[in-house]
Amino acid sequence: MQWMIVNDAAGRVRYLGPTQVLGWAVIVALLCATLGAGMYHAVLRLGVLYPETAVGALVHQLVGEDWQRVLQEQVDVLAREVGTLQVRVLQMESLGQRLESQAGLPALQDRLGVGGIWVPGPALSVASMHSLLDSLRERADTGTQKLADIDGQWNVMQHIPLPTQHPVEQAVVSSPFGWRIDPFTGRSAMHQGMDFRGAVGDPIFAAAGGVIVARAHHPEYGHMVDIDHGEGIHTRYAHASAVFVQQGDLVRRGQKIAAVGNTGRSTGPHLHFEVLVDGAAQDPERFLAQGGAALQTAVASIGAPK
Ligand SMILES: [Zn+2]
Repeated sequence: MQWMIVNDAAGRVRYLGPTQVLGWAVIVALLCATLGAGMYHAVLRLGVLYPETAVGALVHQLVGEDWQRVLQEQVDVLAREVGTLQVRVLQMESLGQRLESQAGLPALQDRLGVGGIWVPGPALSVASMHSLLDSLRERADTGTQKLADIDGQWNVMQHIPLPTQHPVEQAVVSSPFGWRIDPFTGRSAMHQGMDFRGAVGDPIFAAAGGVIVARAHHPEYGHMVDIDHGEGIHTRYAHASAVFVQQGDLVRRGQKIAAVGNTGRSTGPHLHFEVLVDGAAQDPERFLAQGGAALQTAVASIGAPK
């Protein structure tokens, strides 16, 4: 005996023998049984979780005297699932914390719920299960949101054009960033940038790509250029003898933008180089010392973009 099955789509004809038909029948029967069992447990659970509903009443009627036992069984099953879920939420939270610290992001204020694995006890009630599930749901939502935030901030950080290119060829530092004795007043003063020795006319390079936002002659900075690199990061190049860019120009990383000079408040030909993050001067060395821990620190000090 053979059954013929016509496959319309491919236009082919297939024949199935009795063994194959039996095989398929067994598979379908198993699927139905599994589905049935799954539905049976799903209905039982619904009834137990929501005893005041119609499903609850139905389940109560079905199991009759066994209600207490069924109830406890279902609560125990749920408790195990809640326990597993809780472990996964904790894992997600610790992953979030680790990512935050690796990305150098500032600690997020509203930390997720208090940790500690909850161990299911013997007499758990449906009410306690409800509240546990509610709190877990809340923590999972918050955790997902935090991870999305971290991901977004990390992406932004990856694309910040950090000023890591040395602005002069011969990077001989004549004065580092920080407190120093001012060469003009002889008093202690904050040096907001880094000074590189050079000869008049030596090229000055953009430390990163960006837009020229200022080209000016300043009484102290002399001929100067400001580049906006985005995300609140600016670099400033001062005391130049010549400037080769205009305000509004887009510049590439490493592009020649000016020439070393001795204009403004300067005691000799040099480049005064500043890195500003949200208007606050940073130690340029942390950016220029490319790669490794130094760059990490520089990235970390930027913190979360606003
Ligand atoms: Zn200086």
